Amino acid sequence: MENYKPKSRLTAKEYIDGVLRGDRVLLSRAITMIESNLDSDKRIAKEIVQAILPKSGNSFRIGITGVPGVGKSTFIEVFGLHLIKQGHKVAILSIDPSSQRSKGSILGDKTRMEELANMDEAYIRPSASGDTLGGVANKTGETMLLCEAAGYDIILIETVGVGQSETAVHGMTDFFLLLMLAGAGDELQGIKKGIMEMADMVVINKADGDNIRKSQIARSQYQNALHIFPQSESGWSPVVSTASAIKNIGIDKVWEEISAYKKLVLENGYFHQNRNLQQVQWMYNNINEELKRLFYGSKDIASQLSMLEKEIISAKISPVKAAQKIIEAFKKSF
Ligand code: GDP
Repeated sequence: MENYKPKSRLTAKEYIDGVLRGDRVLLSRAITMIESNLDSDKRIAKEIVQAILPKSGNSFRIGITGVPGVGKSTFIEVFGLHLIKQGHKVAILSIDPSSQRSKGSILGDKTRMEELANMDEAYIRPSASGDTLGGVANKTGETMLLCEAAGYDIILIETVGVGQSETAVHGMTDFFLLLMLAGAGDELQGIKKGIMEMADMVVINKADGDNIRKSQIARSQYQNALHIFPQSESGWSPVVSTASAIKNIGIDKVWEEISAYKKLVLENGYFHQNRNLQQVQWMYNNINEELKRLFYGSKDIASQLSMLEKEIISAKISPVKAAQKIIEAFKKSF
């Protein structure tokens, strides 16, 4: 650590070598390059990601979601410690939509996962901030590749189960875990049907004390509900189990199920097929992001748009015609 002055700029090669030898300080600094919005940093970040790419991908990627208060941090802490005991190195990343608006993200709280944070085999990075969910997801995706190249063989990507960020996490992970509570209706938990449908496993957390019986009932209800969904392409039937993160009960069962899933999808080819699709989709997501940035970032376009807005309101032009007109103007600007 003492070898690097905090503010001194390093070469791409220094970052790359540092990441590849698992140097946590350089890993963090390389991630900072990825998160930066400065063009000079972005160039270095691209070089780093391109260079480490062949060394990435060798991990199992798990998405974890659930509404605030369901026990995600408590669960990830005990689950992470369990994985480390089995000899794994675990990186914990998050996609937190709130970080787009404020620096104080829900998931960024430093006091979370204190024991795990102190382990050499764990690397915890709070959510990147950015203007769009796509931008944040992109940065998290590249951060994941860096963590893999640095030797972390299990990546946990956490998100708050209330919106679009689940789809982003689902699109970059191999297994999707949904944490739920007994006794609260789905509406109350803000969990959309679409999110349930993405889940490879549902864990009813806080199955302790007076809550045990209710959790068991919820377990069979969710198990029945999941049967209604069409069979997943992975060939896996989603499972529901109960757990108590706080009492460390049922955590080993979660890992057993994930291991069974992993074995199945490696054998039937789904694992690689899904990863390939995700890679291609990632490219398209980037194209979409970049096009939006080019379009809305142009001052000329912005001023024409505000004029068109007025013309639409005063019924001088139809919305469709206005859209065509601005796209034509954009095309001519190249
Ligand atoms: P998050 O917002 O989803 O990250 O949830 P937290 O992990 O911060 O947990 C929210 C609250 O629920 C905290 O007060 C935890 O102590 C509590 N909690 C978490 N897991 C359990 C559990 O398994 N049983 C019980 N009884 N409480 C839990």
